[in-house]
Amino acid sequence: MPRATRLPERPVMRIETVAVKAGMDPGGTSRAIALPITLSTTFERGEDGSYPGGFDYSRGGNPNRCALEAALAALEGGPEAVAFPSGMAATFSVIFSLSPGGHVVAADDAYYGTGVLLRDQFAERGIEASFVDMTDLGAVRSAMRPNTRLVWMETPSNPLIRISDIEALAGIAREGGAISCCDNTWATPLLQRPLDLGVDIVMHSTTKYLGGHSDVTGGAVIVREPGETLEALRSIQKDGGLVPSPFDAWLTRRGLESLAARMTAHCANAMELARFLDAHPRVERVHYPGLEDDPGHVLAGRQMSGFGGMLAFDVMGGRHEAFAVAANVRVIARATSLGGTHSLIEHRASVEGPTTRAPENLLRMSVGLEHVDDLKEDLDRALATAR
Ligand SMILES: *Cc1c(COP(=O)(O)O)cnc(C)c1O
Repeated sequence: MPRATRLPERPVMRIETVAVKAGMDPGGTSRAIALPITLSTTFERGEDGSYPGGFDYSRGGNPNRCALEAALAALEGGPEAVAFPSGMAATFSVIFSLSPGGHVVAADDAYYGTGVLLRDQFAERGIEASFVDMTDLGAVRSAMRPNTRLVWMETPSNPLIRISDIEALAGIAREGGAISCCDNTWATPLLQRPLDLGVDIVMHSTTKYLGGHSDVTGGAVIVREPGETLEALRSIQKDGGLVPSPFDAWLTRRGLESLAARMTAHCANAMELARFLDAHPRVERVHYPGLEDDPGHVLAGRQMSGFGGMLAFDVMGGRHEAFAVAANVRVIARATSLGGTHSLIEHRASVEGPTTRAPENLLRMSVGLEHVDDLKEDLDRALATAR
């Protein structure tokens, strides 16, 4: 069965180069630099019945999916990646791989859909979850039970952009006989490499920074070593039919080529915008780990190589004022999601509903790749009108 492979013998490459090159070996007669999209669902056998091309049927493997998986594995530093049609399909598969009767310790500020999945789907199918504040290591230790199988962390987190200690959390999981998984969607492997910090599984919504252009939904899981977990995830992907289309895999792999340059620009724009908002009289508080007085600053400085493109800020006033700011932006788009080239702004409390942890005056921003002065001017104008 074709599998994502490590890079073929080549000089040791830096991560920026890996993002461009890994898995991009189109071969064939045209010598094309960009990978072709292989739509065929089935592949021809040789006379001896074998599959000389390495593929038999597209649910089991496809060249575009393989290229994407090879690149993701290389970027995160794992032996293999398993690609899924969405981030939630990736999360679903990790939790589904646990045996019934298992218990999950999950971040209380994990992605909203992760909490919904654990509560609404898995609880009644015999997998229980406890939601804890992952910045409080004592609370995580006390939440561990003899049947805890998985510790699910996410850092930086939504919507307060909080930072939790990946290495310490992986250690707590290991001591408790559980595996650890880090949702690395917001940081990307460019800024944070959880496998190097002892985590067993990295999960991504590739819909965000990895795809990078808000035009393709996808997910992936990368494991630290071959073994049972990887085998289980591979068979859930194939037997459950949880496969991304060739075009989606191609788009996501294409997105990765510019990941390093995009992340550098996202981080620079977010840092500058955070400082601007921090000094703004109509802003009560900015949540961004790049600011020296942010509670996550020191830890982020230790485990990340950049502070990311996500920030949140509390508008002076309440829900009304926050809505007014969002209503008055003209360059920044009012939309959910993150990680694309367009800057997006969102009132999280109203998106998440009654169980939200977001303050009513909080707006979350995915800082895009527009000129930062246009973003500043847009926010300045919107803040001035928001009364
Ligand atoms: C978007 C997101 C997900 C879910 O991914 P989808 O691709 O929307 O299914 C999971 N975790 C985080 C941190 C996300 O931002």
